Amino acid sequence: MEGEVISKNFIEQEIDRDLEQGRYDKVVTRFPPEPNGYLHIGHAKSILLNYGLAVKYGGTFNFRFDDTNPTKEKTEFVQSIMDDVKWLGADFGDKAYFASDYFDAMYEAAVKLIKKGKAYVCDLSAEEIREYRGTLTEPGKNSPYRDRSIEENLQLFEAMKNGEFPDGSKVLRAKIDMASPNINMRDPVIYRIARMTHHNTGDKWCIYPMYDFAHPIEDAVEGVTHSICTLEFEDHRPLYEWVVNEIGFEHPPRQIEFAKLYLKNVITGKRYIKKLVEDGIVDGWDDPRLVSIAALRRRGFTADSIRRFMELSGVSKANSESDYAMIEYCLREDLKLKANRYMAVLDPIKLIIDNYPEGQVEYVEVENNQENPEAGTRQVAFSRELYIEREDFMEEPPKKYFRLFPGNEVRLKNAYFVKCVDYKKDENGKVTEVHCTYDPETKSGSGFEGRKVKGTIHWVSAESAIDAEARLYENIVDEDKGKLNEDGTLNLNPNSLVVLEHIKLEAAFKEAKPGDKFQFLRNGFFCVDVKDTTEDKLVFNRIVSLKSSYKPA
Ligand code: ATP
Ligand code: MG
Repeated sequence: MEGEVISKNFIEQEIDRDLEQGRYDKVVTRFPPEPNGYLHIGHAKSILLNYGLAVKYGGTFNFRFDDTNPTKEKTEFVQSIMDDVKWLGADFGDKAYFASDYFDAMYEAAVKLIKKGKAYVCDLSAEEIREYRGTLTEPGKNSPYRDRSIEENLQLFEAMKNGEFPDGSKVLRAKIDMASPNINMRDPVIYRIARMTHHNTGDKWCIYPMYDFAHPIEDAVEGVTHSICTLEFEDHRPLYEWVVNEIGFEHPPRQIEFAKLYLKNVITGKRYIKKLVEDGIVDGWDDPRLVSIAALRRRGFTADSIRRFMELSGVSKANSESDYAMIEYCLREDLKLKANRYMAVLDPIKLIIDNYPEGQVEYVEVENNQENPEAGTRQVAFSRELYIEREDFMEEPPKKYFRLFPGNEVRLKNAYFVKCVDYKKDENGKVTEVHCTYDPETKSGSGFEGRKVKGTIHWVSAESAIDAEARLYENIVDEDKGKLNEDGTLNLNPNSLVVLEHIKLEAAFKEAKPGDKFQFLRNGFFCVDVKDTTEDKLVFNRIVSLKSSYKPA
């Protein structure tokens, strides 16, 4: 993007002002996932935004597990989340912070609030607390326990910590304002009693802090300056500010909200994905039709293309939906020069060149990527028997069909002109072989100018072809009719996965390793599947087709 003048987004404008006014002298951002599931493309937006700001302002990016809620956490997600963040290129120096490391600091902070008369132990049940809270139109009522003395509160809170009361029997609440127009400020609960084993602290605690109390403290303890979150937390901002100010942090962080990334017709909700996994409709959380980071990586998306997509889609204060076609555009742009272009036949039929000597193999030199000379060249075997795409031959062609049909001549890409002289069919009428003759004068690169042909098709030499599997994907939900059926279930696209079990690859593919990406000439970009590829069989995922209707604004 060198030399381009890019207007600053609203968060950058805020940061500029904070730095100018001396509110902060550096920028510290963070990405705080809960380890309760796999990250998806929406999280990538948050990761790249926070990381990007830290880089841009020469600041620090903290990666922190928000693991204050032991019921939902699973250690299995910790590793996958770290892998995803690293893969996206957000460098956190291998130092992952854990919110649970601050449980002591949070406890101390709560004690401090009690001592200031800003928090109290409340014996109302969860249901009573809800009743007392009031509604959007009616103010709440004070809890009968609101005026407990500081001494009593200190004693009770310590007893809560020491396990003297049953789960759910008491809570600690911030003492703010039961008549506040913002319901979040009506004496929110900040600690609850729950005997749960925590993956990090074990059974040390039987009281756990609530998110709205814990999160600002995590940020403040780490010296975060800009705590960037999504819009649904806008109404929680006054509470965030209340917490950091009452606890008296010297340079309290500030919260800034932005709109979540939504993709049209793409499923990101954990609930739906869980169902797809449980019903066996997809092959786990990393099924290439999903948009978890693991799934995108498996399908063959590059971190660069995701970064580019996030740049193009921008940062906004208003919710909107982005088009999946925009990511596909970024992918094609990124892979265009990086991926070698080899020949692969997806739906093979034999092409036999009757006048080519049996047993002879010659090699033609082919560029690995016509748009990128640095990719070099390779030798491609050519012989009497080749595979071509079934759709490149027709017995009775419609108008404007320039590929093979009886009597027609085409160019075999990088090789010779061939003319169709015959074909064979099986008892079901399915074409099994196409016969041609070739003209030795017409070799590519020989300067032949005798005549022209209108069609060029790709091919693979049968004598050295590699047999492989390819998986073609479409959106998992029906794009035209929308994501959901009337009963709330997903409106699944029956063609979301098409498996081609015996595609034919040119010999250059024998070097292919899991994760490698290629352009199959005329057929799209493909990635070697990391999960199902074996010593004996390559399995390819189609990342994206070659054609696009999308153009960036
Ligand atoms: P949950 O539904 O479990 O709350 P979550 O998507 O909020 O899931 P978190 O682990 O809490 O998951 O999210 C980590 C960070 O990612 C948060 O800062 C959250 O705001 C951000 N984030 C989540 N979804 C999106 C999205 N679609 N676009 C941008 N940021 C997102
Ligand atoms: Mg969350």
